[in-house]
Amino acid sequence: MNYEFETRAVHAGQDPEKETGAVIPAISMSTTFRQDGVGNHKGYEYSRTGNPTRHRLEQQVASLENAKYGLGFASGSSATASIQLMLNEGDHIITADDVYGGTYRFFDKVMRRFNLSYDYTGDMSKENLQKLLKPNTRMIWMETPSNPLLKVFDINTVAEFARDNNLILVVDNTFASPYIQNPLDLGADLVMHSSTKYLGGHSDVVGGIVVTNSDKLADELRFLQNSAGAIPSPFDSWLLSRGIKTLPLRMQRHSESALKIANYLEKNESVSRVYYPHLESHNDYQLAKEQMRLGGGIVSFDLENKEIAEKFLSELKLFYLAESLGGVESLAEYPPTMTHGSIEPERRKEIGINDGLVRLSVGIENVNDLIKDIQNAFDRTI
Ligand SMILES: *Cc1c(COP(=O)(O)O)cnc(C)c1O
Repeated sequence: MNYEFETRAVHAGQDPEKETGAVIPAISMSTTFRQDGVGNHKGYEYSRTGNPTRHRLEQQVASLENAKYGLGFASGSSATASIQLMLNEGDHIITADDVYGGTYRFFDKVMRRFNLSYDYTGDMSKENLQKLLKPNTRMIWMETPSNPLLKVFDINTVAEFARDNNLILVVDNTFASPYIQNPLDLGADLVMHSSTKYLGGHSDVVGGIVVTNSDKLADELRFLQNSAGAIPSPFDSWLLSRGIKTLPLRMQRHSESALKIANYLEKNESVSRVYYPHLESHNDYQLAKEQMRLGGGIVSFDLENKEIAEKFLSELKLFYLAESLGGVESLAEYPPTMTHGSIEPERRKEIGINDGLVRLSVGIENVNDLIKDIQNAFDRTI
């Protein structure tokens, strides 16, 4: 489709149904498809292998990521797992250090049992990657902006290094969403999303998706999608497609409000540090401005200690104290024991996740109401 992003969000893969003209095609619940003769089918045989509703979702997200192929999964975690299954025993992977807690858990507690090894690093410069490179290195895995500290890594530079050394570069683009950045355009080989977050956008469906331009990687992954079978249901696929249509509007509002809240927090005396990519004080501000169309909807900040952070969180009313992110409703959480609880305390310290850290997922409510809620919680805490 040659249309702009907003138009593709609504229309890519979402043509009206041919038979009835239904603008919203019926959800295709059938598990099997009638063949005219043996092997003579209309593109679908069995619903794990291919499903029309899932296919529409896959085309929609592929279009938004400027990708040739999209592959739907039952969750972001199953997308991660399926990508890891592309590797072989003995392979080595270089990973950015503050990746999603569940990703770290899967690498460290599951894949290592199959003799894969992982090096975690906060420095994705070519010099450092060169130092970490081994003869058996096959993949680089990174998340940008990262979670929960919103570090921004230069996708272009890492992609060049990956290309020169024949490595597969995977970018987890969950936090930015395709509206804010398209890592394939910058040289990534595979881009994955937990579509549970911004793509779905309404906190009512768990899902994952991977996109790529490589025929070879798409074939390998489609084989694994079918063999391991971690696919999204037709209903979940439909819910995701429905949510994605408003992604551009939501991302604009999330980002606009998050920037206002980040600015507000920076002026607050009880906040020692604010992490937001489009804040001038951010370590990677210049890069974030170049690489990200907007700053995104997540803001993290440091309070003095655990007690103050916990009290503050319990005093919020409009921000729900809950895990996850990317929905229309605002959420707040305490990474050390919630989303990043599976990371050992020493490693958390190394990464820079302090005991007073709070993470906000800024929703699409009126920003003045959100700021009032934060102010009230501060007034009752400090
Ligand atoms: C939530 C999340 C995942 C895992 O996705 P699920 O859909 O929860 O399985 C992976 N990466 C990031 C950045 C996430 O936020």
